[in-house]
Amino acid sequence: MAQAHVRCAIDPQCPSHPSTEAIFVCLENQCDEQLACPKCITGAGNHNKHNVELLENHLGIFKKKINDYNTNTREQILGPLKKMVDRVTDDLEAFDPATSSILDEIETRGKEINEQTSTLVTEFKTKCSQIRSCNRQKMEHYRSRLLGKITEIEADISALDRFLAGDCKADIVNAAKSGLCKKYQDLPYPDDIKDVSFKVSDTPLNDVANLLGTVLIGNEQVVRAEPYTETIKRLEDHIKSMEQKKRIDEARIQKSKKELHDCTQRGQDYQAHIANLQEELQNARKEGQYYQAHNGKLQEELQSARKEITADAHEKKKMQDSINDLRALGTHKVKTEFES
Ligand SMILES: [Zn+2]
Ligand SMILES: [Zn+2]
Repeated sequence: MAQAHVRCAIDPQCPSHPSTEAIFVCLENQCDEQLACPKCITGAGNHNKHNVELLENHLGIFKKKINDYNTNTREQILGPLKKMVDRVTDDLEAFDPATSSILDEIETRGKEINEQTSTLVTEFKTKCSQIRSCNRQKMEHYRSRLLGKITEIEADISALDRFLAGDCKADIVNAAKSGLCKKYQDLPYPDDIKDVSFKVSDTPLNDVANLLGTVLIGNEQVVRAEPYTETIKRLEDHIKSMEQKKRIDEARIQKSKKELHDCTQRGQDYQAHIANLQEELQNARKEGQYYQAHNGKLQEELQSARKEITADAHEKKKMQDSINDLRALGTHKVKTEFES
């Protein structure tokens, strides 16, 4: 922003000739309302032959420009800024942490949960206490019945003892006959005692955050910093589950090793069995070859035996024929001799 000019004797000074008063304003476009003195508008002056006006007459235009600028600045810049200040002032109210409704909402919700929790705690405790107290009453009753019975039996024993110690035979006979027959009824342990126990919920305590709600900043949910105790607990659980997995894997490896060992063993057994079978096969083949050879020899023998038989048969036929011939000859000779 322009600062107020230090007033001097020459008002205003010519920008080109500081010792001379600028009494003109140049109206040429390229000169942009520069101030000028008489020296400027003549001879070698910057504004020679330029269209100039007396500053005195032009001062109103400069004043109007200032006024326009101020009006404009007030309306265009100052106005919106002031409105923004009002708005921020309102917002400040809303952002006052002490009066924030968010805190109230969180507080309310937390209280509701606390109330629900303590109601439940009271309810559960009452329930358990009632049952335990009821059980206790039953036990007391049972105990007093047991004691009553003991008193009764002890009284009976004392009475019998008294009869024994006394001289009255009738009493002793009576006691031996009827007194010993007295049966005492059993007092069984009460069977309507109710067992009461409490099973802690599986839901982790830090899940209470799900009940309470979530804080959103913009669209992002605030990630809750995990307390050290929870971190330790979480890591411990993780380690536990890893150890369990390790144990399971180790058992699996052990089992697989055993299976591998068994398979190797079985493989070796099969190998040995195959070797045995191959040996047997080899022997069987040898035997087969031997029988083959033997068979051939037998066949040969059979062949020659057959030939021999055929030859014999031939011989036999020949002899038979000879015998027949001889017979025929004999018969003829006898017949001839007989006829002659
Ligand atoms: Zn000048
Ligand atoms: Zn000029």
